[in-house]
Amino acid sequence: MSVLVFLEHHEGQLQKGSLGVLSKAAGLGAGGVSGVILGSAIEGLEAEAGRYGAAIVYVADDEKLAAPLPQPRVDAIAQLVEEQGIETVLFAQSILSADLAAGLAARLDAGLNWQLVDIVAQDGGLVGKQSALGDSVLVDVGWTSTPRLGLFRAGVFDPVEMRAAGAMETFEVRFNEHSLLAEMLEQAHEEPSGPSIEDANVIVAGGRGLGAPEGFGMVEELAKALGGAVGATRAVVDAGWYPYAAQVGQTGKSVSPALYVACGISGAIQHKVGMQGSKVIVAVNKDPNAPIFEFADLGVVGDVHQIVPKLTELLRARTL
Ligand SMILES: Cc1cc2nc3c(=O)[nH]c(=O)nc-3n(C[C@H](O)[C@H](O)[C@H](O)COP(=O)(O)OP(=O)(O)OC[C@H]3O[C@@H](n4cnc5c(N)ncnc54)[C@H](O)[C@@H]3O)c2cc1C
Repeated sequence: MSVLVFLEHHEGQLQKGSLGVLSKAAGLGAGGVSGVILGSAIEGLEAEAGRYGAAIVYVADDEKLAAPLPQPRVDAIAQLVEEQGIETVLFAQSILSADLAAGLAARLDAGLNWQLVDIVAQDGGLVGKQSALGDSVLVDVGWTSTPRLGLFRAGVFDPVEMRAAGAMETFEVRFNEHSLLAEMLEQAHEEPSGPSIEDANVIVAGGRGLGAPEGFGMVEELAKALGGAVGATRAVVDAGWYPYAAQVGQTGKSVSPALYVACGISGAIQHKVGMQGSKVIVAVNKDPNAPIFEFADLGVVGDVHQIVPKLTELLRARTL
């Protein structure tokens, strides 16, 4: 059963999420696990892939792969799948991987399971685990044909060093004309504003109770008034409301500020483990039975849309 892992890299570094998926795939005992690295001027990355379990690392080094665009990568991986008889292609969640996996599913007419949190080898095949019903249960998901495509949630596996052969095989991609039509005009890095959540003394975090991505506006205002940083739950990060860098919890960051203000956050155990070290926890939630009130030092039962702006206003009035 041949498994290929897409190894994403930026600024000369293989991404931790991809290496985690590679380690997981190598530990499945499902046969030869290979990795694929696509880009331009990418010498040396294959050795690192070997350290995390890739028996073979396919490398296409081509200027047409320099920009992190999905379509030329669809050509490259589709070609490998066909030429090498690959049965499974796995990806770690990222914007590029999600675009690429979707494009590949369309190109190969293949089934794609996404938001996977685990995968096991079973009865000669593979079974994915997907969390459902607000992360309260895990369900088994499968594939009815090959190639199987799987996209894992961010951060579900840690990279584990396990030296494999790491033999490099280079290949030339045959690009489709239409795959090269998109052009990357500019890439900009997000400018950090205020302290990072790892360093902040105060964190104001938002959850699904904010109702919409725009709800983070008032969370940012409160964080600014307190000189703090903004945190988020995984539910809102997965929904694309706020960047992953702000995620607090089991698969995000562990923080221990002097003050943690949780706005519209239920207090699930996976969130709690990342913030329970905070000195003072304040929770605003409209449900008096929300689990967060079991471990908050101060609880406000109410609507975030009324309480949070009011709090900011009072703080600003005090500091004037
Ligand atoms: C393997 C695994 C790892 C995970 N890792 C993480 C992790 O790292 N971090 C993390 O956060 N989660 C993690 N989770 C997910 C976790 O289980 C919860 O699903 C998630 O924390 C819930 O986020 P939430 O509190 O924003 O949403 P919900 O649970 O939906 O809670 C929303 C809350 O908002 C309240 N509310 C609604 N409207 C309002 C309003 N107008 N005003 C005030 N309150 C309101 C509701 O009463 C509710 O309590 C993980 C899950 C799994 C299975």
